[in-house]
Amino acid sequence: MNKRWTIERIREFVEKNSDSKLLTTEYHGFSQNLLFECACGNRFEKKFKKFKDNHQRKCDVCQPPKESR
Ligand SMILES: [Zn+2]
Repeated sequence: MNKRWTIERIREFVEKNSDSKLLTTEYHGFSQNLLFECACGNRFEKKFKKFKDNHQRKCDVCQPPKESR
């Protein structure tokens, strides 16, 4: 399966799967932090992999990071 993400596809994914907006306009790979705007208006940075695979799709205020214990 050829799964290559582009900034357009990421933006589409973000719009369809979250209440957040994507502010970053260039995508360079999974290790890049992307800038999002949460539905509450806060801006937050997150790697797309976390956004997608770990369902971290809101800012830290609306969705506090889970403690890893
Ligand atoms: Zn928020």
